[in-house]
Formats: sequence, C-alpha cells, structure tokens
Amino acid sequence: MNIQTQDAARKDWDTYFMDIAYMVSTRSRCSRRHVGAVLVQGKKLLGTAYNGAPMGVQDCLEAGCMIAEEVEMKLVDGREQPFKKQRCIRTIHAEQNLLLFTDRADREGSIVYVTDQPCWTCANMLANSGIMEIVYHRSYPKDNEKVERLMELKGIIFRCLDHFEPPAQAHMEVTS
Ligand SMILES: [Zn+2]
Ligand SMILES: [Zn+2]
Repeated sequence: MNIQTQDAARKDWDTYFMDIAYMVSTRSRCSRRHVGAVLVQGKKLLGTAYNGAPMGVQDCLEAGCMIAEEVEMKLVDGREQPFKKQRCIRTIHAEQNLLLFTDRADREGSIVYVTDQPCWTCANMLANSGIMEIVYHRSYPKDNEKVERLMELKGIIFRCLDHFEPPAQAHMEVTS
C-alpha cells in the first residue's frame, strides 16, 4: 500500500471515536437500545461506558426490561396529542455511567462521543460535568429542542455526525 492509499483508509478522529463508542455499545444487554459513550481529552480516550443495570444486579437479558409507561405529547396536524410510550428504566444510561466512572478533573474541557443523542436528564448532567463538546450519531427527537437550547445556554458544542456509518458489528435496532 502506498502512503496515499493508506491515508485514504485512515479514519478521522470523529469516525475513530464514534467507532469506539459503537463497539462499547455492543456490551449493553438491554434489548431496546444499545448505547455507548466515550470520554476524550485531547485525542486521548479517558473512559468508556454503556447503558446497563448496576453491577451485580440482574440485567435486562436475565430479568427482562423494566418497562415504565409514559404519556408524551406529540404534534399531529398542528394539535398536541397524548401518546403512550414505553421505556426501559432498568438501565443506567451510558452517559450517566460515564460520569460515574470518570473524574471531574479529566472531564474539564473534554469531548463526549455518544452513539445516541442524549435524553434530557443525561444532557442536563453532562451540562454540569465539565465537558465542552458532545458528538452524537442517532438522533433522539423527543428531547431535541430543550437539549439544544440548554447546550446553547451553556456554550457546549453539540454536533450530530450524520454522515457516520456504524461498524458492522453494532446492534442498530432501537425499540421505541
Ligand atoms: Zn432494558
Ligand atoms: Zn439518557
């Protein structure tokens, strides 16, 4: 291989870290959604996490998902309509696990790569965690508006890697 071909095959940093986030997500045992998140400081990987039950506690594969039903409002033909939605609440979200397993000092000015756009609670916690940038791939429209507003208020860079192609091993089905 000459240098040019090698360079073309070389992954850029965004792809490199999002690939890792997707590989981390394959550890998840919640069948509804596999989420991975990584903490990056100056191109150095400082932490990885995925969504899962607390250590030593039965997970979704062993005990089944713990389903909570919620009512969400959605705009249909210009009118807000209530919709029932199911959510698995057995798992700690990947972003929250990432915060539990990294140090504040390591997070100051860092970037979080996460396979899925953070929900409101995770976004709120990340906004207070010292990180300065969030890069995600799959969108999560439910909380999009308020999360974007929060990131703007906090001056946190919030980007979607929409051109990204997840690695073949990643589990892409999402139950919503
Ligand atoms: Zn589950
Ligand atoms: Zn979340």
